Amino acid sequence: MDSTSLTDPAKTYGIHIWSEDNFIVEDGVVKINYGSRPSLVEITKKMREDGYKGPLFLRFPHLAAKNVRRLFYHFERAKKEFGYKGKFKAVFPLKVNQFPGFIIPLMEATRDLEYGLEAGSKGELILAMAYNNLGKPITVNGFKDREMISIGFLAAKMGHNITLTIEGINELELIIKEVSRLGTPVPKIGLRIRLHTGGIGIWAKSGGYSSKFGLTSTELLEAMELLKKHNLTDRLSMIHFHIGSQMNHISPLKKAIREAGNIYAELRKLGAENLRAINIGGGLAVEYSQHEGRSSRNYTIEEFTNDVVFLLKEIAQAKGVREPTIFTESGRFVAASHAVLVAPVLELFSQEYSEKSLHLKEKNPPLVQELYDLYRSISTKNAREYLHDALDHMESLLTLFDLGYIDLTDRANTETLVHLIIKKALQLLRDKPSKEIRDILDRVQERYLVNFSLFQSLPDYWGLGQSFPVMPLDRLDKRPTRSASLWDITCDSDGEIAFNIDRPLYLHDVDVEKEEYFLGFFKVGAYQEVLGMRHNLFTHPTEATISFEEDGSYRIEKILEAQNILDVLDDFDYDTKEIERRIRQQIEESDTIKDEERKEILGELYLYLSENGYLRTINFNE
Ligand SMILES: *Cc1c(COP(=O)(O)O)cnc(C)c1O
Repeated sequence: MDSTSLTDPAKTYGIHIWSEDNFIVEDGVVKINYGSRPSLVEITKKMREDGYKGPLFLRFPHLAAKNVRRLFYHFERAKKEFGYKGKFKAVFPLKVNQFPGFIIPLMEATRDLEYGLEAGSKGELILAMAYNNLGKPITVNGFKDREMISIGFLAAKMGHNITLTIEGINELELIIKEVSRLGTPVPKIGLRIRLHTGGIGIWAKSGGYSSKFGLTSTELLEAMELLKKHNLTDRLSMIHFHIGSQMNHISPLKKAIREAGNIYAELRKLGAENLRAINIGGGLAVEYSQHEGRSSRNYTIEEFTNDVVFLLKEIAQAKGVREPTIFTESGRFVAASHAVLVAPVLELFSQEYSEKSLHLKEKNPPLVQELYDLYRSISTKNAREYLHDALDHMESLLTLFDLGYIDLTDRANTETLVHLIIKKALQLLRDKPSKEIRDILDRVQERYLVNFSLFQSLPDYWGLGQSFPVMPLDRLDKRPTRSASLWDITCDSDGEIAFNIDRPLYLHDVDVEKEEYFLGFFKVGAYQEVLGMRHNLFTHPTEATISFEEDGSYRIEKILEAQNILDVLDDFDYDTKEIERRIRQQIEESDTIKDEERKEILGELYLYLSENGYLRTINFNE
């Protein structure tokens, strides 16, 4: 193995920055740093041998469980360090990932912890009731109608430890009405507070005075009056805030905690004797960056937990109240790393420029002839110079074409020769990276056509410009030479991850007609699945769960194949029987189809309808 490969950032794609040791580079491939350390490319090839072509969505339940345990470990550690007497509990916010392949194993793996679920809608509340470990916390946020509050009462009757967080006074009034209708047990009541501290970043609307949610100071006082009047003060158990997702700085959280801590103390003074918990919401950030100096957050989990515990202790002491139970609703932090999208590269744009496609004439324009000579005689010594010359000649030749001096064949030869020279030069200079070469490279990017839909699998890239760590699954002992832009297979021009000089991506020059090349997109386990859209009718990719046995061996299980075309159309409320009937009729009535062909054509079309819409191959020689 190349001894520099572990430290060479060009070959490891910043894995030491973003992977938290969940994935490692070894022997030129990305491996899962767990159990027998299988490589992602080995798992991918196994699945492809079993017929699952197209993109794969791989889940690693051990990583979600690990993240929850890290959260508990660090809060317990910080509590000990500061002598904090309050408890720590947490819930997973379902809106971040409601898929059974994620939620069910998560609940199984965290039974021994004070860990539950957070619901923000009726559907999520039903999920929480069905899958939460009984007795572990359920919190309910978001706008609620009478029906949703009734479901909360029923959950309490079923023995769930449920807290309904009030977003406005009207919800408290609804609860009061339900008490007289449904009696006890009454769910615990939480109050979402409207902070004067603003939220941050692109999700800022979650916090602050202009927030969609939460009670103002006046409304808090009003809520206390109402609770007292209806003998429900003892049900008030939690106050809650959420300042936004992916907090890149910790200072707004610190401000919010000071504010919330003081509100907690004031409410207790006003008689809320069972108010025990402060729920600090989610927002704990994930490191998505794969480039030095471009970190997505300025704090660690140690710092985060220390700050929360320290501040709450300080406020409790100053105000002479008991130290509150700390609740968190971290979603992204728990879910993001558990899933990896593996997508095959289908084509490199410059692949069409091969020596075969040259159509040199008996007599070529002098500059074309010169390009050809450069191509024939390029060597390590002159590569840099020849590269410059080639690019200069290309500009001149393109101008000559615009002025009508050379023809289309000359222009085609120019394009092909320049690409061939670039390829050869990069090959020759592979181990001599210099700024100058990088600059040239960055101008002549390679476009990689990748078998996935950005809208389905990375919607936050499209919607918010959120970037995700991406790297090839193998060849990591070789220095990548091409500055890459990634094209998905939708026919939408937004379906592109353009080359960005501030966060450059370099990939290998491969001949995908001869060898396979797979890209892994990491940390796609939070929000992406449910926000993903079926633009161009591309569905959720084929998914699989990778689980590990005690002895370290792994299993590929719970394979869920991407929906086939007819099922997608059915989801869009098409009558698929009608679609089949129309197609059959057209085949039967067509004048251009011979009688003996009809059955075969129908059969072939049916086959396509029963497959998913991702591309299987675009090379006919495969
Ligand atoms: C979305 C949301 C969360 C989760 O936020 P993350 O940034 O994913 O941790 C937690 N609580 C509430 C109320 C939310 O709306």
